[in-house]
Amino acid sequence: MTTDHIEAVQQAALRLSAVRDAADKAARLTNRTGDAITLIAVSKTHGADAIRPLIAAGQRVFGENRVQESQEKWPALREEYPDIALHLVGQLQSNKAAEAIALFDVIHGLDRPSLLTALAKAMDAAGTRTPCYIQVNIGAEEQKGGCAIADVPALIASARDADIPLLGLMCVPPADVEPAPYFALLAKMAREEGLARLSMGMSGDYETAIMLGATDIRVGTALFGDRPVVQRPVPTSGRGMVRNSLAR
Ligand SMILES: *Cc1c(COP(=O)(O)O)cnc(C)c1O
Repeated sequence: MTTDHIEAVQQAALRLSAVRDAADKAARLTNRTGDAITLIAVSKTHGADAIRPLIAAGQRVFGENRVQESQEKWPALREEYPDIALHLVGQLQSNKAAEAIALFDVIHGLDRPSLLTALAKAMDAAGTRTPCYIQVNIGAEEQKGGCAIADVPALIASARDADIPLLGLMCVPPADVEPAPYFALLAKMAREEGLARLSMGMSGDYETAIMLGATDIRVGTALFGDRPVVQRPVPTSGRGMVRNSLAR
């Protein structure tokens, strides 16, 4: 191990224990313990060299938001660490359903009938039943994925008919507003539908989410640091590469 590598593992271990401690504190306030909370380390845009220190620090549950990026990164790591669980936390195109079923242990983005049909078909073909969360467009935002609140009961019924194992509901609340009311609404919907789990809470709001019942928190930045900035060439500037866009 090089000094750089040892430092990277130490930093990952510090970040991991800071998130776990904060999650544990929030869980205790609602009469649970940190063990009841699944911490999904969202490693999108980060390469294997950034992921390995977190694995060395003991993290085993990871999340990605793109199928193709995951196919490039994860098969080798999973071979090395067979006990890793990989969650797909982003939007999924129906034509990638089979690839998603082949790679992921849990899918958080089931949000429409066409995707449900594609996933059921892919699961049948692969002879597996991959547990899913139904993603709810909890802020009724036009540009965002997720099932409209009014359509959630029908989608749940269709998933049950298609024998797709449903774990619970997932949401990404609107940016830059207080998330608590949205978390509370998602929790109420899950209770009414008899679903046990809630995938909600990211780096900026996971403690709030836990206090409102989250069982699965999806944390990227607090574990990995800022995501790399996408570098795009600007041909006319004469300065070559400029930083002009934040990565997702
Ligand atoms: C990127 C992402 C996260 C993690 O976000 P951070 O703010 O970096 O913790 C969580 N959930 C989804 C769906 C994401 O795309």
